[in-house]
Amino acid sequence: MKLVLLGAPGAGKGTQAEKISAKYSLKHISTGDIFRANIKGGTPIGKLAKSYIDAGKLVPDDVTCEIVKSAVQGADDYMLDGFPRNVYQAEKLDGFAQVDICLNLEVDKALLMDRICGRRMCVCGASYHVSRLNGSEVCAKCGKPLYRREDDNPETVEKRLETYESQTAPLIDYYGAQGKLKTIICGDKSPEEVFAAVCEVLDSL
Ligand code: ADP
Ligand code: ZN
Repeated sequence: MKLVLLGAPGAGKGTQAEKISAKYSLKHISTGDIFRANIKGGTPIGKLAKSYIDAGKLVPDDVTCEIVKSAVQGADDYMLDGFPRNVYQAEKLDGFAQVDICLNLEVDKALLMDRICGRRMCVCGASYHVSRLNGSEVCAKCGKPLYRREDDNPETVEKRLETYESQTAPLIDYYGAQGKLKTIICGDKSPEEVFAAVCEVLDSL
């Protein structure tokens, strides 16, 4: 199975991706995670990506598509999280992979800003919202200290949401036209409730 996970920043892609890849044994490929690892490692890709990420813009398509192309090489079952992010990338992807399904996580726009700005991350991949942490500053799963992503600040988030609306949202129609779109209406459901809805869709395939 080749799955594309679609959704605005803060829609919960990362949280669901973690659960989906564990339950369905899909390789989790997150372009955001790959860029952040490159930034941390000080690689040329990282240096390039940082300026775009800090500005809430997309990293150039050619670089991004090459990264994904090599990440999927040799894998039959995977989930793309954060890719494609515009129609150009989707067309490129269609050139080297046969996507089976696009899961679209739909969340009320008004919730996104608070969700992202209140988000706390762990190096193990877990993420939390401050409102559910009861003051704790460590990961409930592994005990490591939580941190805030550098691009999770109001100014950058504003830009990321604009980028999503203008460039990424058109992919809903793109995959709809291919008959591959499954939209999950998340509303203000808990991560567990959303995952149950996701499983219902995936189990029915
Ligand atoms: P979010 O979905 O919360 O914005 P991501 O971790 O998916 O977080 O992405 C973080 C940033 O990495 C994006 O704002 C963008 O700058 C860059 N990025 C991630 N995926 C792509 C992509 N497919 N194409 C271009 N840039 C990307
Ligand atoms: Zn952790």
